[in-house]
Amino acid sequence: MAADFDTIVNLAKRRGFVFQASEIYGGLRSAYDYGPLGVEMLRNVKQQWWRSMVQMRDDIVGLDSAIIQSTDVWKASGHLSSFSDPLVECRTCNARHRLDKLKDPDTCPTCGNSGTFTEPKDFNLMFKTHMGPVESEDNVVYLRPETAQGIFTNFENVRRTARMKVPFGIAQIGKSFRNEITPGQFVFRTREFDQMEMEYFCRPEDADAVFSEWVDSRHSWYIDLGMTPENLRMRQHEPEELAHYAAAAVDVEYMFSWGWDELEGIANRTDFDLKAHMERSGQDLSYFDPETNERFVPYVIEPAAGATRTTFAFLIDAYAEEKVNGESRVVLKLDPRLAPVKVAVLPLSKKPDLVETTHKVASMLRERWHIDVDVTQSIGKRYRRQDEIGTPYCVTVDFDSLDDNQVTVRNRDTMSQDRIPLDNLLTYLTPLLPS
Ligand code: ATP
Repeated sequence: MAADFDTIVNLAKRRGFVFQASEIYGGLRSAYDYGPLGVEMLRNVKQQWWRSMVQMRDDIVGLDSAIIQSTDVWKASGHLSSFSDPLVECRTCNARHRLDKLKDPDTCPTCGNSGTFTEPKDFNLMFKTHMGPVESEDNVVYLRPETAQGIFTNFENVRRTARMKVPFGIAQIGKSFRNEITPGQFVFRTREFDQMEMEYFCRPEDADAVFSEWVDSRHSWYIDLGMTPENLRMRQHEPEELAHYAAAAVDVEYMFSWGWDELEGIANRTDFDLKAHMERSGQDLSYFDPETNERFVPYVIEPAAGATRTTFAFLIDAYAEEKVNGESRVVLKLDPRLAPVKVAVLPLSKKPDLVETTHKVASMLRERWHIDVDVTQSIGKRYRRQDEIGTPYCVTVDFDSLDDNQVTVRNRDTMSQDRIPLDNLLTYLTPLLPS
């Protein structure tokens, strides 16, 4: 069971991971800003995804497509006609709910009355706006509800320019927008969020095997980054649950305080998207395999994850309260690759020569990692502050450091301390803080 939801939300707000958007105006519901620590952690999550998807593989390349695309894209993909959720309204209290997410589909969770819902209506989730100075029906455009379509429309551009051969993948990280009926649970469901999506194009007959490989590989990614295995599960979709374009789907789910919920969807999207764009655009998006002399439309296996949602899950999963020598401490046991601050450099006291050495040490380490310098309050309090934000190592500059050129390195998890010569500090820390 994961940490208490309110505890994490409080920590996130108090320590500057996440702020309510437009807070000084009372806040905009379901929109959040990432503060100094949150932005680092979110970037680290994205960086680890990009590293495993793009940097470490020779069969996947990256893309950054526009948020606003031609409306034809959404007509072809089916988003305009069917990207909707079932909306019901309570006749008693007028609250609106997403029918498929209600625990009891007959009872309003806001006022508790039963049998008061209107007939469900399909509510399209796309945000609509106008392009250019005239607000007319002719220049309506939409903010993308997923990053995937920008990948499909660039299939041929990428294949040709990067000289890729099927099987290959295209990865993208970026903002997506959905006018969710019931956003909530902090950053879990927002109307603006970051996605990390990869479309892997393969031969149709290989799709099942490729799908299984991605299910395994995506599970390993979370575990390798330190997520507790018991808090993670892979859930296969029932046939009636599958999206209209999907032949198979597995969700990566995390055990939140409200139950299992989705972090990522892995789907076999078949040749649905490429064929749909071929039909609407009149362009040939089929692939000619020079080895077999065959032409075919590739199948697509898609691991689609939410960066903001996943960051939240890593935060929850890392949270621990411990008793140390009769005192309690809060510690975020984040994998060092995800930790917002990698090393905190702390002078034992505010004495100017200690502070001066601290800054010298910090600027040496800054070349490689995100560093924090903290000068105020007792060293115990400062250690606890760093534990609470998950800083893996604290380097303390004390009075002896000025004479012996050594510093103390404290490990967040074991709290053990090593005395290290300054000249060896980089060599000592480098294997402990991989990229
Ligand atoms: P849900 O059923 O929760 O609405 P979904 O199945 O529609 O999600 P996908 O379309 O598969 O979601 O999107 C892929 C991923 O994008 C999700 O697994 C999730 O991590 C993220 N995501 C989707 N909608 C949101 C949202 N409103 N806020 C934050 N992340 C989201």
